[in-house]
Amino acid sequence: MHRGRLALGLGFCLLAGTGLCFLWVHVENWLPVSYVPYYLPCPEIFNMKLHYRKEEPLPPVTQAQYPQPKLLEQRPTELLALTPWLAPIVSEGTFNPELLQHIYQPLNLTIGVTVFAVGKYTLFVQHFLESAEEFFMRGYRVHYYVFTHDPAAIPRVPLGPGRLLSVIPIQGHSHWEEISMRRMETISRHIARRAHREVDYLFCLDVDMVFRNPWGPETLGDLVAAIHPGYFTVTRQQFPYERRRASTAFVEDSEGDFYYGGAVFGGRVTRVYEFTRGCHMAILADKANGIMAAWQEESHLNRRFISHKPSKVLSPEYIWDDRKPQPPCLKLIRFSTLDKDTSWLRS
Ligand code: UDP
Ligand code: MN
Repeated sequence: MHRGRLALGLGFCLLAGTGLCFLWVHVENWLPVSYVPYYLPCPEIFNMKLHYRKEEPLPPVTQAQYPQPKLLEQRPTELLALTPWLAPIVSEGTFNPELLQHIYQPLNLTIGVTVFAVGKYTLFVQHFLESAEEFFMRGYRVHYYVFTHDPAAIPRVPLGPGRLLSVIPIQGHSHWEEISMRRMETISRHIARRAHREVDYLFCLDVDMVFRNPWGPETLGDLVAAIHPGYFTVTRQQFPYERRRASTAFVEDSEGDFYYGGAVFGGRVTRVYEFTRGCHMAILADKANGIMAAWQEESHLNRRFISHKPSKVLSPEYIWDDRKPQPPCLKLIRFSTLDKDTSWLRS
């Protein structure tokens, strides 16, 4: 009798369990399930306006005590390829031009160039532009901005497809120092007014120079400086920095990486804006104190590159001087200062 009741009880439990399981599977199918959308992308994400967070620039470098990096550190014919802050130093043999072409060509970039031609320096424009058309960023969109006091003196050099020239009138100054010092101000204003909408990268170059070999996308970077051809073999104490403490361009003997040329700098247009604005502010402060730095804006440029390190450094291939013989460490010269009659030009 007992056994019969036990069997009946067990049978009932089994039946009830199976029934509950069956019911659960069904209920689960028609209950509004809440965990699936949690894993799938919600439609709101697609409609949401993503707020662009401007990338914070690195804070200025204040550390002054570290060994000087030497461009010719290893062998006299081999250039250093990386700075101590891990910026590439671009020279022939450190990059593959075809690979870079494949990477940068599809980006449809526009590269801006600023040059100043005031007074007799308008004579350089033709040669500068013709050589740029042959060698500078070939196959890319290029926008030349020529700043001059005399737009009629700027020759109409034939330009390739996708390449533009804007002649921008500026006030002339009687002193050549004033002309070259005003470049930082003019460039920063020009970027704020229009260049930030028209170009992705901007190079600021001297006009008394010519291109002699290809200058391509290997030079593109956030903030780009070029090592001056006159000082890459000497110690930092011998760099012609501004050494008077009264100037905002003052540099201590223990500071400095490379001595950079004022004739070539560039980068992403927003970074060039910050850079030229910073230099302009420092120049204004010096002016207010009645002091002009040793090498005018080149001194301010060098001061700023110590605390705001360039993200890419160009070897002297990109800023050579025709008056010097080509050293064995440079496999080719890409951009070079013409041998000029300085006193006549500035008179
Ligand atoms: N510049 C100019 N007119 C002048 C002096 C300078 O247009 O009377 C511009 C020009 O673009 C020149 C640059 O400022 O390339 C820097 O001057 P310069 O080349 O004479 O300086 P350097 O390279 O000899 O230090
Ligand atoms: Mn020059």
